[in-house]
Amino acid sequence: MNSSAHWRTRRQRLSLVGEQCPHCQAMLFPPRDVCPECGGSAQEPYAYDGQGTVYSYSEVYAPAEGFARYAPYIVALVQLDEGPLLTAQLTDVDAEDVYVGMPVEMVTRKLREDGPDGLITYNYKFRPALVPAGA
Ligand code: ZN
Repeated sequence: MNSSAHWRTRRQRLSLVGEQCPHCQAMLFPPRDVCPECGGSAQEPYAYDGQGTVYSYSEVYAPAEGFARYAPYIVALVQLDEGPLLTAQLTDVDAEDVYVGMPVEMVTRKLREDGPDGLITYNYKFRPALVPAGA
């Protein structure tokens, strides 16, 4: 299989889908069906483009069970370009290179494997945003 085609398929399937409130236009993530801003019903799906910046971050040395092989790792509060904050693991970056305001983009990665059958869970992470050549 062509790896880039495979990537696109997976990216679509795992895109960041939240909601936009039809009453006050608040951007919601994760989807919660009731707008926290105005209390109205908010069930309009909205697919975020996965671009954002690091709002805050911390290094995790004592991971949850099943994540030991990844320790230490960096967990950041990422502010999406559309506004919502979400918590996600950072990848492809050293802790000393992370800073508040760093541009990041969503990637999907294998998050954990359970047991000998390798039941694999995929989830989103964020990595430093690719900077155009010459920038
Ligand atoms: Zn609202």
